[in-house]
Amino acid sequence: MIEKLVVIEEEPPSLTEEPPEPVPARLGDLPPRSAEIPSGIPAYSRPIQLKLVKPNAKHSARSRDYRLRFHPGVSQAEWDDWTWQIAHRITTLEQLGRVIHLSDGESRVFQDRKEGIPLSITPYYASLLDPFDPAQALRRTVVPSIYEYLLSPGEDQDPLSEEKDTVVPGLVHRYPDRVLFLVTYACSTYCRYCTRSRAVGDGVCDTGIGRWEQALAYIRDHSEVRDVLISGGDPLTLPDEALDWLLSRIAAIPHVEFIRIGTKVPAVLPQRITRSLIKVLRRYRPLFISIHATHPDEITPEMRQACGRLADAGIPLGSQTVLLAGVNDSVETMTKLFHGLLTMRVRPYYLYQCDPIPGSNHFRTSVAKGLEIIRGLRGHTTGYAVPTYVIDAPGGGGKIPLLPEYAMGYENGDLLLKNYEGKTFRYPDPGASEDRFIRC
Ligand code: SF4
Repeated sequence: MIEKLVVIEEEPPSLTEEPPEPVPARLGDLPPRSAEIPSGIPAYSRPIQLKLVKPNAKHSARSRDYRLRFHPGVSQAEWDDWTWQIAHRITTLEQLGRVIHLSDGESRVFQDRKEGIPLSITPYYASLLDPFDPAQALRRTVVPSIYEYLLSPGEDQDPLSEEKDTVVPGLVHRYPDRVLFLVTYACSTYCRYCTRSRAVGDGVCDTGIGRWEQALAYIRDHSEVRDVLISGGDPLTLPDEALDWLLSRIAAIPHVEFIRIGTKVPAVLPQRITRSLIKVLRRYRPLFISIHATHPDEITPEMRQACGRLADAGIPLGSQTVLLAGVNDSVETMTKLFHGLLTMRVRPYYLYQCDPIPGSNHFRTSVAKGLEIIRGLRGHTTGYAVPTYVIDAPGGGGKIPLLPEYAMGYENGDLLLKNYEGKTFRYPDPGASEDRFIRC
């Protein structure tokens, strides 16, 4: 039973120094430092060759290769600085065309586009993209597509009707005991399927203290609010001082027992999980973090280090994954992702059916596909690796869990159950009556 959110006043023990960066197995494998990349000519003329990196390496081979190729004058220390990553985000067609071969379709999007989710990709995340394959999973999630401009029935700017439940700017109060606090509309990397596509983007970023004060006053006035979910945008793109300010104000509200943060930073900007950020976060307990994870290709030494630091600080970690057609819609991919998350001490928490934002049809799978994936996980692997599959109901209905049919109904007072192998079993349910029939 949680009694009260506490602020840890004592200075936390300093994090142990990490071993020096390991040397690649063969230095000769490193690409030469090219002096300059001629503008307009894609620099990749051959497929990326992955190199051997020791298992405890702090940097993936792809990010090293990318840094040396496209930022030859940049040191590893600069690359590892999250503010450098933010300052060097890819935000234009020209920049993107220098690091990947744009397909005709991708180039056309930029010529035609007038509005929509902005383009932003950190150099680190760009290093994980396949420069030659427009269909690569990670590339599809961050590079704009012409399909974003095709509207389909049922799509809506605000599919979850968050505006309807917005009580003060940036604060959504839908469920009785908890609120969603949208503290920023900025992200380091924009996902093409973002539920808040109507709002995210640097242009509408409003992180003013004035707006936060209004939200804090509302929470203070509503004693039924025991749980505050801080989201956005991505809250971990805020500076340490701003986060500390915000967390300290929320933690000081007597009836708030629990704070959660939703973020994609460990996957797209793992450099942000610095020792100083950890120092801020570990002052507030209980604090949970939900990490947005999409595909096993995101699980790199950098993401491992970021999650390891958060877990070592005692912060419980869960994941949220959006089911996306052609990206992660197979049992094999999801199993690999969820197993990988568990090895980083991140518990798979929610698998979301993709929300029907405008132009999302190419990302949305059938619900049957989601159920097939859950069926392919449950019983076939560790229960901790099986998230809850939910549809966030359009119109503001909230999260509704979906399960394959395991309960088949009653027969002679027994509940008939189907296991993961499709075999039927009976359970003598004390509450059963023969005329009852349950469908799950
Ligand atoms: S990180 Fe989250 S808020 Fe930001 S674009 Fe992706 S889904 Fe949207």
